[in-house]
Order: sequence, then C-alpha cells, then structure tokens
Amino acid sequence: MKYRFQLRVTPEAASKKEWLLREVSRNSDIPKADISHVEIVKRSIDARQKAVKVNLQVDVYVKENFKSEPIELPIYRNVATEEEIFIIGAGPAGLFAALRCIELGKKPVLIERGKDVRTRRRDLKALNIEHIVNEDSNYCFGEGGAGTYSDGKLYTRSKKRGDVNRILKLLVAFGATREILVDAHPHIGTNKLPAIIASIREKIIEYGGEVLFETRVTDILIENNQIAGIKTLKGELFKTKNIILATGHSARDIFELLHNKNVKIEAKPFALGVRVEHPQQLIDKIQYKCDDRGDFLPPSPYSIVKQINGRGMYSFCMCPGGVIAPCATSPGEVVTNGWSPSKRDQGTANSGIVVELRLPDFQQYGSSPLAGMYFQKSIEQTAWRIGGETQRVPAQRLMDFTQGKISANLPETSYKPGVTSADLKEVFPRFIHNTLQQGFKEFGKTMHGYLTNEAVVHAPESRTSSPVRIPRDPKTLEHIQIKGLFPCGEGAGYAGGIISAAIDGEKCIESCVALLS
Ligand code: FAD
Repeated sequence: MKYRFQLRVTPEAASKKEWLLREVSRNSDIPKADISHVEIVKRSIDARQKAVKVNLQVDVYVKENFKSEPIELPIYRNVATEEEIFIIGAGPAGLFAALRCIELGKKPVLIERGKDVRTRRRDLKALNIEHIVNEDSNYCFGEGGAGTYSDGKLYTRSKKRGDVNRILKLLVAFGATREILVDAHPHIGTNKLPAIIASIREKIIEYGGEVLFETRVTDILIENNQIAGIKTLKGELFKTKNIILATGHSARDIFELLHNKNVKIEAKPFALGVRVEHPQQLIDKIQYKCDDRGDFLPPSPYSIVKQINGRGMYSFCMCPGGVIAPCATSPGEVVTNGWSPSKRDQGTANSGIVVELRLPDFQQYGSSPLAGMYFQKSIEQTAWRIGGETQRVPAQRLMDFTQGKISANLPETSYKPGVTSADLKEVFPRFIHNTLQQGFKEFGKTMHGYLTNEAVVHAPESRTSSPVRIPRDPKTLEHIQIKGLFPCGEGAGYAGGIISAAIDGEKCIESCVALLS
C-alpha cells in the first residue's frame, strides 16, 4: 500500500534515510518495520523561523516494494524526409521547438550563429582571460543559448505559462537528475547543462532533424507579408514559408533587421542595474539565522523586492555559490550575469539587483521601438569605457556605493576578467543610481548584515529580459503582420528564463504545424 504525507522536519531528518523513516513512523503511526520505502516527492526549505525546517511531501510504501518509474522520451519517428520547418536560435526555445517538431512529424532545421557546447567553451575562456568577445560565441550565443553556462535555475515566476513538469521530465530523460522533479526551486548547474544540451541535439539529428552551427541569419526574406526565406552570413539562401524566430534578448542585429524591414516591433519595459557579490557564508548567516549552515542545508539563495520612489527594485537570477560572468555579445561593451556549478560550492553568492524601467525612461532615444535597446547598449558601453576598455567592469564596495564614495581598494571577486574601482554614478542615469543607492539601504534593513563593504557591486546587469517585443497574434502565435513568422522565446518578449522559453518554443511549433495542416 502507498500513502502520501506532508511532513515538516529538520534538515538533518530530510537528508538521512533512517531519520526520515523514524519521522514518518512517528507522524503516521505506521510501525517502522512495516515501512518498506519512503520516497520524497516534493521538498522545500522554510527558513522563515529561527529553526530552519524542510517541508516534504512523501510517498510511504507499506509492505510494498517501491519501483522507480522510468522517465522516458516521447516516441519519435524519423522525419528526415518530412516537410522542413526552420528554427532560428538553439537556445531553450529553439531546442524544445525542434524536439516537439519531430514529435509532431515535421523536420526541424535548427540554425544557430554560435558553436556547439564544447567548442563554445574555448571562446568563453578567451573572453574571461584575454578579454576577447566573439560576436557569435559567448555566454549568450551558442548551442543551448544563454542558459547553457548558467545556474540552470528551473523555475518560472509565472505558473500560467504552461506545463513546467513536462519540460522538467524531458530534461530528466536527457540526463538531468531526478531531484529537479522534487525540489521547489530546482537547478542543474553549469557543469551538468552542456551534456544535457548535447544529448538533445544528438536526438534531434538521430531522428532526422538538422542542426547548423556557426550559421548566422542575416536576412529574413518577406514577400507580400509572407515569409519567403532566410539568408545567412555565409551566403546561403533557404527558401521557406515558416520560421520560428527564437534568437534571444541579445540578438540586436535581428531587432534592427526587422525594424529596417518595417516589420512591426515594439519597445518593451525591462529592468537594469548591477550584480552584487557577497560571501556565501554571510548570506547563509542572514537567511538561515545561524553562524554555520552545517552539513544538511544547501548554500542559501535570497529573493528580495522593494518599492523605491514608486519603482520596483529586486533581486534577479540569484546564484548561490556562484560566479559572475562576462556576458557581453559585442566588443566595446561590458555586461554581467551569473552562473553556479551544480554543488553551488564557490563560496560567493551573486545576484542581479535591478530597477524596473518604463518606456518614458528611454525617451532620449526617441519613439523608436529600439529606444530601450539603445538605452541598454549605451550603459554597457559607458561601463566598458569606465572599466578600462577591456572586459574589466567598474565596481564599488556596497557601503561605498550607497555613500557615493569611490572604494579605496577592491577585494578579488569571482568575476574573472577583473574589476576597476570607479564611482558607479558615472555608469548610470541619475534615477537608476539613486534608486539603487536607496534600495540597497532598504535591503539592509530587511536582511541584516547585507549592507556591508564585504560585498562588491559590479556594473552593469543589463540583459534581464528583452528590450523589444515582437508582437504576435495571441491565438496563432504568428506575427501580427507577417504570415509564417513565429516570434518565440525571450527575445520576442514571451519568456523569461530557461523553462518558460522551452515552453514557448513548444507552443510556437505546435501552432506553426497546426497552421500547415
Ligand atoms: P536564448 O537562450 O538567448 O537563445 C537564442 C539563441 O539564438 C542563441 O543561442 C543565439 O546564438 C541564437 N541567435 C541569435 N541571433 C541569431 C542569428 N542571427 N542567427 C542564428 N542564431 C542566432 N535563466 C534561468 O531560467 N535560470 C538561470 O539560472 C539562468 N541563468 C542565466 C545565466 C546567464 C549567464 C545568462 C546569460 C542567462 C541566464 N538565464 C537563466 C536566462 C536564460 O538563459 C534565458 O532566459 C533563456 O536562455 C532564453 O531562451 P531563448 O531560447 O528564448 O533565447
């Protein structure tokens, strides 16, 4: 017999089989000897009280053996000779669109400007060590998209976006740990993601799909408001009537291309700010309210939001035990973001701390739909100049930042290319700088110990979401004006993060295939 229970236990009891068994027996009155297995189905950490607890949902097997259910891939058949659908961009949106395309019996042709996950690594090394930005291969561009060398957080703020569990199960079938189905805030880690992404690509090819790396799309051909084909930098021409455009939030050339071709796009509000790094131990101390988190709690994340002068200021893409990464996609700019390995064991905690922006904030760039993008770019370029015209970023100790003092010295941080001491007032428009200064003081009131000179603020964190929306029909998901154009994923303004981008990829291809038949 199998029973399902909710339990609230200590971190140690949640980690040790024998302890968990005892807790289950005590809470259920089932004799220990009768329990053959306890399977954790859901797990979340509750650090709101002084004593941290773990909330568990468990399946208790009584006098019955437990058999782990296999998680299998859908049944695919070979689509090599079927009708082709072109998918531009091999980020989560493009990859999951391609897989679903095969499931639906059509042949995906996935076109990616960057390199495969393995080769891409060399360019990341050059970026970190030699400050060389390859415009096609970096932390945002290449197989797996922006999510490949990330923390691999797999939760989405919005539950409305679709079937999260389906995507998580597919990731498990492609090699992710089953723990991601259990944890309330699952993550995979930079060290594990590339292999999962490579096996997705291998499956796409095995079943007749095509994947073209180092192939940058430079033109989208349109005839009578209908997609007619695509051209690439290498000079290839692919004739097609349908494309899934999943090029991400950093594909500025694609936004410019659409705008120059009079394809309707819109400026979209986004958020921008800094990336702050604290010692992980300090964050653990604040969040878990203890000096040492011990052996049974993971490095703590945090999430904080405040309203400052009528604007939201919030933590974004927080990476416990992580590293700050140089995420520029062009020379002459600097951008930060963060990643963590699966164990989150790097000793430093970093998070984007960003200020909500609105369309009127971009007015110095006129009423162009690209105004937000230009605003974003100008801050990244200013930071590049102030940082010393390399991939070093301007930085300030956190207290110094709130007090408007240039830091006399800076500690080494996890940001490999290095930091340059500067007054970050020079990087941001005044309203962003003031909001951040005030907001950090407010954060310090909620998270005691957070506002410290042990923390270092790096600037800027500017690619939080797309500064542009490519409008689409809510029913067909086709562009409102161009037939056969399916704007997809984060770059089009319909996703924010790995999971929601993957879900949107599936939705777009489903609609595209439905319209074909
Ligand atoms: P992208 O992943 O941006 O993929 C777009 C792809 O299109 C890229 O591979 C690009 O090379 C390709 N492309 C662009 N232009 C062209 C062109 N002209 N021709 C051909 N190909 C083109 N999200 C999370 O949910 N959890 C995290 O922990 C997390 N951490 C992150 C850490 C970092 C360092 C970064 C940069 C991002 C992180 N994100 C995270 C955000 C997440 O990666 C994105 O939300 C997600 O990847 C968006 O998916 P997408 O498929 O829409 O676009």
